[in-house]
Amino acid sequence: MRDDKGIMTANHNMSPLFKKLTCLTGVGPSKSRLLARLGLHNVYDLLFHIPRNYEDRRRITPIRDIREGEYAVVSGRVSDVNFKRIRSRQRMLEVFVSDSTGMIQLTWFHARPSWAESFQKKNTVTAYGKVQYYGGPQMVSPVYTTAPNPEQSAEFGCILPVYPLTEGLSQKFFRRIMREALTAAAEVADAVPHPLARAKSFTNKTEAIRNVHFPPSLATAEHALRRLAYEELLVFQAALALQRRTIKDAKGFNFKTGRNVEQRIRRLFPFRFTDAQNKVVGELCRDLRSQRPMHRLLQGDVGCGKTVVAVYALLSALAERSKGHQTAFMAPTEVLAEQHYLTLQELLDGTDVRIMLLKGSAKPAERREKLQRIAEGRVDLVVGTHALIQKDVAFNKLALAVIDEQHRFGVRQRLELAQKGRRPDVLLMTATPIPRTLTLACFGDMDVSVIDRMPPGRREVNTRLLGESHWKEAYQEALSELKTGGRVFVIFPLVETNHELDLSSATDAYRVLSNGIFKDYPCCLMHGRMSAETKRETMRGFRNGDYRVMVATTVVEVGIDVAEATVMIVQHAERLGLSQLHQLRGRIGRGGRPGFCFLLASDPTEDARRRLEVLCNTNDGFKIAEADLKLRGPGELFGTQQSGMPELRCYDFSDLPLLEEVRNDAFELIENDPGLDRQDNQLLKKAIRQGYAGRFALGGMG
Ligand code: ADP
Ligand code: MG
Repeated sequence: MRDDKGIMTANHNMSPLFKKLTCLTGVGPSKSRLLARLGLHNVYDLLFHIPRNYEDRRRITPIRDIREGEYAVVSGRVSDVNFKRIRSRQRMLEVFVSDSTGMIQLTWFHARPSWAESFQKKNTVTAYGKVQYYGGPQMVSPVYTTAPNPEQSAEFGCILPVYPLTEGLSQKFFRRIMREALTAAAEVADAVPHPLARAKSFTNKTEAIRNVHFPPSLATAEHALRRLAYEELLVFQAALALQRRTIKDAKGFNFKTGRNVEQRIRRLFPFRFTDAQNKVVGELCRDLRSQRPMHRLLQGDVGCGKTVVAVYALLSALAERSKGHQTAFMAPTEVLAEQHYLTLQELLDGTDVRIMLLKGSAKPAERREKLQRIAEGRVDLVVGTHALIQKDVAFNKLALAVIDEQHRFGVRQRLELAQKGRRPDVLLMTATPIPRTLTLACFGDMDVSVIDRMPPGRREVNTRLLGESHWKEAYQEALSELKTGGRVFVIFPLVETNHELDLSSATDAYRVLSNGIFKDYPCCLMHGRMSAETKRETMRGFRNGDYRVMVATTVVEVGIDVAEATVMIVQHAERLGLSQLHQLRGRIGRGGRPGFCFLLASDPTEDARRRLEVLCNTNDGFKIAEADLKLRGPGELFGTQQSGMPELRCYDFSDLPLLEEVRNDAFELIENDPGLDRQDNQLLKKAIRQGYAGRFALGGMG
């Protein structure tokens, strides 16, 4: 039995909910394999296979009132039947149906002669389908019945669910097995505690499940789904609330953040912090001073100055040298880790902070030596990649861990770094703006800080989407920027499925461009398969101007900081997500000169075009993230597995008020009954355990 199934009854072996789907009429091994493709294994799964839409077949529309492109039910008498041969093999059946207001043609291709016999002149036909016009109104292959009282058939006079399908399964099949499965709906336990359900005037859950599948009205369906979503979110948010308590109730480190420390730190930076940075520093300082472990997410667009704030936190943690605190800064790639290391080294020059870079590529002897220094507390700040969370890394006294670009790491890895110490403060940073609903879901146990303004001098990036016939303009613009001292990125995305080919396309492009249009300027190539050494050399060369053009795969996405880079050309932009593209273009326009970003797509679909235009219209990362969420759904934005977000079946992430409401209810509930000991809360407790044990720290819940 999988463990994310929500609620099971005590003796779930006996329960009809957990029977295999083959227990349903007409479901054999082959159908059950198809159902498994949709993640449906037992009756419970099936009940929570939520319709993606409904067909409203309750009302018969007079033929005069039907509209092209809309779905409708029409009903009338057969006035004519034609059976035609349209090509040598193909036959077409036309049935003309009239009511008192007009006539419509029902059409079937590939019809058999016997079919025509089911339509007798003057008999009543009721049909549902999409209305098209070819001379007159028409429906092609409509659902129909010739029963005199159509509302008594299962297909008419009601609202029917439309399910997400997979090839080989039909709506009709789904509706049939769903009706059968619904007899088990009475067994589904309700995790919403009674007092809460009463306060919300919730209908009973069994009824809600029925109404989601076969609703008497569309409003009822919506209501029922919301109610199920509420419960699903309640279990999830209560688990998060418990995890938060577990973390925050622990006794962790507290740091001194007095005036002296403050001034000493600020003096290290050659600029004044922005108001947005100061606000966040204030929030961090409260956490740092407190004995409760910091558990905070810092969000802010690329280049807004998060790293600077993180450095502030690191230095505060190290301020009282006698305490022997150690800190760690984890970055997702070696290039980034090195860049952070260099920045920090420069900043800390002249202080007594001992800093170290720990990379995965370190030689065994070197690594051993470094690990020993970490374990003995002879280093204060370790910057590194995943190498930091290897088993053999042991800190003497890890007091603060900062994790950059957290979305590159899974929850597991975040936990692993925190577990290198005894309740260290943890600060996650992300430059990928996360829509509010996803923040509450993925990081619902954390405090959230946002830097919402750029440092002075930052310029907007002018973004244009160019079809193939205009690509030249992008390269012309790049040339003219190069003439006046600018530097240029040309990006060739890597697509997971075809690494070899993609890599060769970036490599080929490098050859073509460096010998062609950019032949007068030094060019370099950068991709993920190069050795760390080569990457570093290349990066350094690009930064100090030895190279003026960098042809790269998406490895430059995060953290590359070259003030003079002003132009970015992204080939195959249609292959990339909006957030990723936004990250990429954050690399340019960083030095006070305006940036130009060209998104090149050869033949974008309508969808792709609409997506990419979002980027042309705004530089606001949060707006882009919201658009990305709407267009691609949460699964695409955040691999659910990786983010630790459970698979939610009923909630769809567009309803922020609902999520906020549930969140308040869940946190209040846990506040009042942290061990979930009250009788009313027992089913909720069970649901949390079944859904989230092993995934979250559920602390006080016995
Ligand atoms: P992020 O980590 O959010 O991408 P960084 O902290 O790396 O941003 O800052 C981006 C650039 O802006 C760096 O070069 C940094 O030195 C500079 N910077 C940060 N804060 C300020 C500030 N308050 N004033 C001027 N420049 C700043
Ligand atoms: Mg950064």
